[in-house]
Amino acid sequence: VSSHRTIGRLAIDRFSVGPLETNCYLAWDQQLRSAVLIDPGSFTSQLADGIAAEALEVEWILDTHCHFDHTAGNSAAKEALGARLAIHELDLAGLEGMHISAASFMPGLDVPESPNPDRLLKDGDAVTLGGVELTVMHTPGHSPGSISLVRESVIFSGDTLFSGGVGRTDLTGGDWEALMQSLAALMRLPDETLVLPGHGPETTIGRERVTNPFVGEALAAIRG
Ligand SMILES: [Zn+2]
Ligand SMILES: [Zn+2]
Repeated sequence: VSSHRTIGRLAIDRFSVGPLETNCYLAWDQQLRSAVLIDPGSFTSQLADGIAAEALEVEWILDTHCHFDHTAGNSAAKEALGARLAIHELDLAGLEGMHISAASFMPGLDVPESPNPDRLLKDGDAVTLGGVELTVMHTPGHSPGSISLVRESVIFSGDTLFSGGVGRTDLTGGDWEALMQSLAALMRLPDETLVLPGHGPETTIGRERVTNPFVGEALAAIRG
């Protein structure tokens, strides 16, 4: 575990997985022991051990988007945990071709095909783990179906927003304009909101508002 924290009744462990050091998050309701696994770029033994040690029932595997570094462990995680898989509907096609694009992105990398999702997500949907709800925010740009997951004072931002950066838009389905609009939408969250990104260290909305040049560009574009 790279980090552990609690926010209200939600506990969150961060694991760094796979060749691109993706942040995979295990989040659970401390009262009811129900969990979600966000972005299993690889289903590592540390992850399996962490889930077992906390005696968690993983309800959902949530992919913030289709790229292999967030989804290559879908198959192993689903088989081990029996959890349902969910992704935004606009990243379904990308998920279906994920194992093929992975091989072209990193030759020699052998990534198993993802299982079919059990649920296709849309903006505003709620995903429930025990007594906790995560709200789906559609934040396209890095991919057509990129989502962020919001719970009160915390957001899992996938590859949309990083500490000091943003996700690239030169991959299939990437869209810079859409990314700028997504950043502007994220900036409507309160400054104290903790941002847990798909790569790199955590940050806050307030910090990115002031220091992230891409956020500055997005907000300037909105102001015209
Ligand atoms: Zn990505
Ligand atoms: Zn990524």
